[in-house]
Amino acid sequence: MAKGFICEICNNSKDILFPFQFDKVVRCNHCHSCYHNNCYNKRNKNCPKCERIESRKLKSMAASEQTNVDIPE
Ligand SMILES: [Zn+2]
Ligand SMILES: [Zn+2]
Repeated sequence: MAKGFICEICNNSKDILFPFQFDKVVRCNHCHSCYHNNCYNKRNKNCPKCERIESRKLKSMAASEQTNVDIPE
């Protein structure tokens, strides 16, 4: 059984996506999530999952920067 995906952009749980539906499904190269072609294009081909991962990375980078700050006294 192939594993189905729900498009995270429109969250249509009734429309299960399969990676082999090349005519309507795109797969993110980075996180391998599947989205509707239309939805993905509407988001200017930005993967919402990768955006989340990216913003989390930035946040944790900022946090570690803060803890590593040397305060000259
Ligand atoms: Zn969609
Ligand atoms: Zn992605």
